[in-house]
Amino acid sequence: MRMRWPQALVAAMLAWVAADLLVGRLPGWPEAAGLAVMFGGLALAAMRLSAQGFVKAFCRAAGARARIALTFDDGPDPATTPQVLDVLRRHGVRATFFVLGAKVDAHPQLVARLREQGHEVGTHGYDHDWRSVLTVAGARRQVQRGVDSLLRALGVPPVFFRPPYGVVTPALAVALAGARLQVVGWSLRTRDGTGRGEPLARAQWVVRVARAGDVILMHDAPREPGGRMPLGPAMLESVIVGLKDRGFELVVLSDLLARAAA
Ligand SMILES: [Zn+2]
Repeated sequence: MRMRWPQALVAAMLAWVAADLLVGRLPGWPEAAGLAVMFGGLALAAMRLSAQGFVKAFCRAAGARARIALTFDDGPDPATTPQVLDVLRRHGVRATFFVLGAKVDAHPQLVARLREQGHEVGTHGYDHDWRSVLTVAGARRQVQRGVDSLLRALGVPPVFFRPPYGVVTPALAVALAGARLQVVGWSLRTRDGTGRGEPLARAQWVVRVARAGDVILMHDAPREPGGRMPLGPAMLESVIVGLKDRGFELVVLSDLLARAAA
């Protein structure tokens, strides 16, 4: 496996300290500063997919002309996902859903409906439990169970994986190395998951800051069934109308990726 920049950072730091010790000098404040930079870098690598740290992640299609992908996380949920589907259908828009395996198992017919309406379905893991990605075994289980649920519901394995919270720990990176999944992040986070704020104002902000090639992160369901409602379903209509008015075409992820690669 090719060394990625976080590994290079750790290797450089270890080499620096080893060189100090070899010449008989004890590491002092420059090394302490170096270590601080290293840990900061590792935290950034884990927390920000666009930093391309422990895995290669698709977050935005640079140079994609006037195309944007809408993505929805944390569903499917019979209380909220159908509203999202209705709005998308009314506007003839295809989107990409990152679903949780546990909810797929509970509502396989809803996942089938996503596909029937032409949307793409990727996996968001099994149950959004952050503790699962602290060990390689736990991360493997989280990823594999998410894949298996979709395989059962749709008959085909997913192509895309969006890590819960957008966090890729080294353990999750090891688990993903053996999986045939394209890791996907986002370039515009609508922060709709808090359920706070005025949907129309939030939608106007999204429309204003969106750029060509963006992958927009929204939520079609609360993380826990019955939890705080995301703003996503309420703001979706205004987001679609606003983006179309600005001349953007709304596409599924594979379309955006194909354009990025072309
Ligand atoms: Zn999520």
